Amino acid sequence: MREESFHSTTAGGARLRGIPAGRGISVILLATMIAAATTNGQVPKPVVGTATPTALVEQAPQHDARFEFHSSFWLNLHLRLYEEARQRDGLAVTQGGGVPAAPPITPISNPAEQKQWNAAVNYYAANVARRDLLFDNILPAITDRLALLEDCLDLSDRAGPHCVSGLQPELLAALEEAAPVYRSREWPGQDRHNRLWVANVAPLVRELSPALSKKISRVYQSDWPSAPIRVDVAGYAGPFGAYTTLAPARITVSSEDPRNDELPGMEVLFHEASHLLAGKVEEQIAIECDRQKEPIPRDLWHALIFYTTGVLVQQALENTSSGVRGAGGVPAYIPYARRNALYERDWQNYEKLLRAYWQPYLDGKTDFHQAIMQMVDGL
Ligand SMILES: [Zn+2]
Repeated sequence: MREESFHSTTAGGARLRGIPAGRGISVILLATMIAAATTNGQVPKPVVGTATPTALVEQAPQHDARFEFHSSFWLNLHLRLYEEARQRDGLAVTQGGGVPAAPPITPISNPAEQKQWNAAVNYYAANVARRDLLFDNILPAITDRLALLEDCLDLSDRAGPHCVSGLQPELLAALEEAAPVYRSREWPGQDRHNRLWVANVAPLVRELSPALSKKISRVYQSDWPSAPIRVDVAGYAGPFGAYTTLAPARITVSSEDPRNDELPGMEVLFHEASHLLAGKVEEQIAIECDRQKEPIPRDLWHALIFYTTGVLVQQALENTSSGVRGAGGVPAYIPYARRNALYERDWQNYEKLLRAYWQPYLDGKTDFHQAIMQMVDGL
């Protein structure tokens, strides 16, 4: 398992991988999913707020709300087809940590429905399933667009102009074919589960957010986005249970991954959001490595984000009214990275460096540049 993929992010086109040789044609074809329809003028620009009211699960009521939760039908169906197509083709779909993928929705007793579902899975297997949800050059944009369509009844102008997706007709046909099957068989339960996840996590997020988000902002010396960050809750959210795309800022989190339940789920949200604020860390590590003539260490910045969120959430929980307090100097809450043994894989040395040089920065005993300089020096 490559640590670089844990809860990774992509900043629009800026950090996307290049197109591997030999895949150019399929990339061009898929790219037309958006581009062709956009150029013929049939597509309105995606507008936040095209959601139907029922799809917004919760927007925290306080004026400085950091997150806005959604349970979007089309996003969930898209990721369900992606998951099943990968599974059908023997591609990796586990969520890590021993969590298996959802079993296929098939077999379906109604032959017509079975045919519809199979056709959609076939389309996804041929065109979508081998693409990376995060680093592909087009799939994140498709996923963003589908998220905004929330629970439009269909993806054409029949449901109103706000439901016109602008995506390639073949993709829309696959989704619309699969929609009745998914809607009748899995969606009510999935939507309920997504909403339950939000109901369990959101109150704590609301309670901790004002102080915790200020601390995160101070640590990374960056402001939060002015608007709440959209969080899409879905059955499948990639192999690590959550990921973040940066342009536009959007977090996708799995309600099925047990690593995301309740308190750790709250940490996952702040970890994901930290990807939006921690650019200076990655930048400063690179600057310092250049100054010290060291190679840039793989994923040190990401281990740092895990470490920081874990420590800050742990401290915040000690002060919360729900009283997640330890005893005898041992905190009750175990941060996500430790709970899921992320340091034990390839990050053991990173954890030592973070404890020795980054923790003093979190404690206000040294400054940002000094801490990073010392970590790079200790590599
Ligand atoms: Zn991450």
